[in-house]
Amino acid sequence: MSSSKSASKSTASKKNKKLNSSQVEMKNVSKAYGETWESEEVLKNISVEFPAGELTVIVGPSGCGKSTLVNLLAGFEKPDVGEVTVDGKLVTGPAQDRMVVFQETALIPWQTTLENVTFGPKMRGEKKGRSLDDEAKELLVKVGLGEFIHKFPLQLSGGMQRRAELARALINEPTVMIMDEPFRGLDAMSRSLMQEFFLELFEENKKTNIFVTSEIDEAIFLADNLVILSNKPTTVQTVIKIDLPRPRNYKMLTSAKAFKYRKQAMDLLHGEAMKSFAISK
Ligand code: ADP
Ligand code: MG
Repeated sequence: MSSSKSASKSTASKKNKKLNSSQVEMKNVSKAYGETWESEEVLKNISVEFPAGELTVIVGPSGCGKSTLVNLLAGFEKPDVGEVTVDGKLVTGPAQDRMVVFQETALIPWQTTLENVTFGPKMRGEKKGRSLDDEAKELLVKVGLGEFIHKFPLQLSGGMQRRAELARALINEPTVMIMDEPFRGLDAMSRSLMQEFFLELFEENKKTNIFVTSEIDEAIFLADNLVILSNKPTTVQTVIKIDLPRPRNYKMLTSAKAFKYRKQAMDLLHGEAMKSFAISK
């Protein structure tokens, strides 16, 4: 690579560092698992845009390939065909601009909340000492864990663990947050509170958010854009623009508009679930 090219690349990445959010795109992405003679096509020709600063929710039947899609966006896996780009640049692997929060807790059990949050930057030797601790504490206060910075993960409730993970992701100053069914497994009340909390955080920082769920109400409550996937081999069935005002509150879910979105999404998803039920019977 010529030096002028690498110089312009580094200027571009510095510029992007200042941006709060990035435009993410998947173009004609297909992905199969296994050897060619017994391979299973999971994703088939998926093209979808994740607009900068918006919250895009992906819903689809269980096993349709949502986590596979997350892995491709995160750069943990590569598409067989097609490409994933962030601000027009090809994704070739994981990077700090895209942080992922999973359903399973990934907190280190023998580290305190504060140590968990500072672990990544410390390991990479990027941010050090007091300023890193101060930044982490600030984030932990923001996610409502100011009183729990010296507690260990097992001393936190499920909802608190997810919030600690949000802080741990946010300390890397990502421009894209990818959430793979992060609230699955929480009881109904904690889940609803986490949704409201997450929305407040999103409405404040306006990062590009890609949120995967199998819950239609959760999807409609959170989304600017709702991407509905089909069954395997999975394609994008439709993208619905969710035109509910922000800031949102749970009461909006009982509005006529939300009901209309729910019906539209349910009809599509139910049809897909029926197909997979018939196949597995
Ligand atoms: P979802 O998150 O929507 O439940 P996944 O992306 O986890 O779906 O899985 C989609 C399909 O791909 C499933 O049939 C699963 O068995 C298969 N799959 C996922 N990851 C792998 C892998 N690493 N190797 C082989 N098959 C996989
Ligand atoms: Mg999954």
